[in-house]
Amino acid sequence: MSTRERRRRPTLALRSVSKSYGTGDVAVAALTDIDLAVERGDFVAVMGSSGSGKSTLMNLIGCLDVPTSGRYLLEGIDVAELDDFELAYIRNRKIGFVFQSFNLIPRTSALRNVELPLIYARVPRHERRQRAVEALEAVGLAHRMEHQPSELSGGQQQRVAIARAIVTQPALILADEPTGNLDTASTVEIMQIFRRLNAEGRTIVVITHETAVAEHVSRVIELVDGRVHSDRRQAPPAAASALLAAGQPA
Ligand code: ADP
Ligand code: MG
Repeated sequence: MSTRERRRRPTLALRSVSKSYGTGDVAVAALTDIDLAVERGDFVAVMGSSGSGKSTLMNLIGCLDVPTSGRYLLEGIDVAELDDFELAYIRNRKIGFVFQSFNLIPRTSALRNVELPLIYARVPRHERRQRAVEALEAVGLAHRMEHQPSELSGGQQQRVAIARAIVTQPALILADEPTGNLDTASTVEIMQIFRRLNAEGRTIVVITHETAVAEHVSRVIELVDGRVHSDRRQAPPAAASALLAAGQPA
């Protein structure tokens, strides 16, 4: 496949995806017939009330689960054709996760936390250190690199988690209620960081039920009862040129 074709291809595409839990009489349809494409450089919020299917969609997009029917393509790769080992590999290589509860390793410096995914990816020590420092600089935390999570505020811990998510240069940053544990000021700070990372060309999907979060994104998708109820664009997707120039793989 040529570079041009790869750039045109959406980062992720769900085609007629349904997901149900259980079988027969007790089956629960969590998602029904979802058609959705997210192109490179887009910044998307998935919204919906409790039980609307947000977590189920997050698990599918994050390759933590597979659809009951339909197809999910992540950078053109059909996830249903992968075994557990390959799924884990794709997850590590292509997706940077950010969670509500930060999920940092305690009693371990911010720098070390950000370096960890690169250790798993067998990046040599020198390059690892340099890339972790750059990722922490990108979230404005270069001056807190040696601090442990307990020595950082909630907003700062989430910034470390974002640095950890971007350090592998994933195709997609996937955030699950990233501001759920934060006060209003920290929420704005985190969303501004996401906006800046997106402006540099990164593709971001945020799962949230907060309208204050949705104000910062380029596109809002609302789920109701496991279906796409609305899909509203607020701003064009970012151009990917800045990151390409910086050498991020297309
Ligand atoms: P949300 O994250 O928007 O609250 P979920 O994706 O968690 O929604 O849930 C969507 C629907 O699927 C709900 O009706 C929920 O009860 C059901 N559901 C979610 N997970 C499971 C599960 N593991 N087993 C059975 N039903 C589930
Ligand atoms: Mg949920």
